[in-house]
Amino acid sequence: MTRTDGDSWDVTESVGQTALGVAMARADESASGCPLFSDPYARMFLDAAASRGWQPPAGPMAERIRMIGGYAASRTKWFDEFFIAAGAAGIQQFVILAAGLDARAWRLPWVDGSVIYEIDQPQVLEFKLETLRSHGAEPAARYVAVPVDLRHDWPKALRDSGFDATEPSAWSAEGLLPYLPAEAQDRLFERISELSAPGSRVAVEAFTADFFTEEHQAKRREQIAQMRHEAAEAGGDMPDPGSLWYIEERTDLVEWLSDHGFQVDTIGAVELMERYHRTPERDDATPPSQFITGIRQS
Ligand code: SAM
Repeated sequence: MTRTDGDSWDVTESVGQTALGVAMARADESASGCPLFSDPYARMFLDAAASRGWQPPAGPMAERIRMIGGYAASRTKWFDEFFIAAGAAGIQQFVILAAGLDARAWRLPWVDGSVIYEIDQPQVLEFKLETLRSHGAEPAARYVAVPVDLRHDWPKALRDSGFDATEPSAWSAEGLLPYLPAEAQDRLFERISELSAPGSRVAVEAFTADFFTEEHQAKRREQIAQMRHEAAEAGGDMPDPGSLWYIEERTDLVEWLSDHGFQVDTIGAVELMERYHRTPERDDATPPSQFITGIRQS
């Protein structure tokens, strides 16, 4: 799977499939004994995709999704809390970047007057909304789909959909950045900054600088090769999720946001999981990520 500048996808292919991978993790968490959240929509998406011929990951890939379950659940919970806190602070405009099959607009207790904008590829949002409609699911706040590629002029599409850049807003970038080239990531944050009135908030999941070191990449390649080998022995296939990523050194977001008037806070993946009493099964099951929040001061 090679990425190109203008590639696009349905939810069952290329980068689109990763949204189903995350939905799998959320469905598993929701069905667990003591879940950090309940997302009844995740299972609906998986069933709808299966009825279109999508085959859920099996073998080592399914095992990998299971192994990062604690990380995925902690991440979901952290972004849930971010949005709830932003609403409590008086923010009423919310932008979920690369929303995929995120069902927060349907499942969180939004404050009256909230409007949620979701940006993702047109076919991904189409699948999502069709599935939710067919189950009679109603959003818990005003919902606006903004089907546009994040490498294109999405600020125009967002404004044309009613977003008001003079009012504060809250933004999330969850499970997104590795799918953008480093330069597109820089442009993304420049645009978020331009659209963020004072008081706006941003929440981001980003790899730490460790992820980009040759040592980490070599270890990652070795792990994938091992998993591919196991999959082949079992007569299956194992795609490398990293083949969809742009593994390019990135701007330090903590520094960048601080330099652009945001008051920044950050927590590492391991610490975040500890907060929610989730223990990784293996050290290498936790992505080297950090979770960054910024509040626009001026
Ligand atoms: N944020 C969601 C979540 O955590 O459940 C989805 C994460 S999924 C790993 C990645 C999502 O990013 C997919 O839904 C994909 O379509 C979206 N995405 C990646 N690159 C994009 C782009 N250039 N424009 C729009 N959406 C993009």
